[in-house]
Amino acid sequence: MTTLASHSLTHLTNADLHCHSTVSDGTLEPEALAARAAANGVELWALTDHDEIGGQQRARAAAHAHGIAYLTGTEISVSFAGETVHIVGLGFDEQSAELSAGLAGTRGGREARARDMAAGLAQVGIKGAYEGALQYVGNPDLISRTHFARFLVEAGHCNDTNEVFRRFLTDGKPGFVPHRWARLGEAVGWISRAGGVAVIAHPARYSRFTPTEEYALFSEFKAHGGRGVEVMTGSHSAAECIKYADVALEFDLLASRGSDFHAPGESRTDLGSLPALPGKLTPVWEVLAERVSWPG
Ligand code: AMP
Ligand code: MN
Ligand code: MN
Ligand code: MN
Repeated sequence: MTTLASHSLTHLTNADLHCHSTVSDGTLEPEALAARAAANGVELWALTDHDEIGGQQRARAAAHAHGIAYLTGTEISVSFAGETVHIVGLGFDEQSAELSAGLAGTRGGREARARDMAAGLAQVGIKGAYEGALQYVGNPDLISRTHFARFLVEAGHCNDTNEVFRRFLTDGKPGFVPHRWARLGEAVGWISRAGGVAVIAHPARYSRFTPTEEYALFSEFKAHGGRGVEVMTGSHSAAECIKYADVALEFDLLASRGSDFHAPGESRTDLGSLPALPGKLTPVWEVLAERVSWPG
């Protein structure tokens, strides 16, 4: 068991501030994630389910039972310049009515989108994908492409989820349905006005952006009150971590660290297993000390 000495974040290195449970598209319950985080030496943890905060109380209680400090978390889907961008919120007040309503609105279109995705897949001979995906869904509000991917692998259409996304679930492919998510300013505003810090998730994944669009994302994010960027994430290569460490300095952003763990055997980075943040960066948790809930 790891316990932080005297409620201090000063010497903290193993923060994992990005992962998913069955409340969105992860396969583990919040309690199982907390146990895994503890086993892997995580000292400060946040569960960041997509567009949903329904797992927060369970995650915090389980974290505390393992002696781990906890920050509230979510990962909001945003449409920006024709791409989906993910904004992680950390340390917000989960009682915020504005945040809850915003997240509910963002989740709202998922069911219709899923039915349209299934119709697209049916046209290329893949029957029953909506019902198939539903078998993998823990939260009916949160049916996602990940659940379709798991079904398509299980049904033998592809060898792994990566292949499903490449062949069926990305722009221009039969199961892809364009969707309008939250606006950047809305997501950043909901998080910030609830007392939290907004963070650009896995910036290297928005590969369709031109340099101008990427610059616009970072500058508009800051203009709306966004304060952080993920530098160390399970979806960055070593070279991308170095690149976004420099971007964090250039834009004077706090740096975050999170595995983006979804499922054993599916996610390439386990909870708590990333390298530490480069020393030249200011960790996002340095401004969140007041928002951390400590084990009893
Ligand atoms: P959605 O919010 O329904 O559009 O689904 C997005 C989710 O799909 C992401 O949060 C990831 O969990 C997953 N995802 C996206 N791209 C890939 C990929 N290439 N391979 C595996 N999972 C992916
Ligand atoms: Mn996901
Ligand atoms: Mn994401
Ligand atoms: Mn994620």
